[in-house]
Amino acid sequence: MDRIIRCECGFIARGDTDEAVIEEIREHMRDDHPALLEQVDTEDLRSWIEVE
Ligand SMILES: [Zn+2]
Repeated sequence: MDRIIRCECGFIARGDTDEAVIEEIREHMRDDHPALLEQVDTEDLRSWIEVE
């Protein structure tokens, strides 16, 4: 099963593990939402994970 995090812009990060999908969404936010990235910590990102 994949872990996914849905970004508010419609981007969907996917990974095999929590750590992989968190890293994926961080890279996306670094490029597209740098201000938002500064406001969220790992626990916030973890709470956004859905299992598909
Ligand atoms: Zn986004």
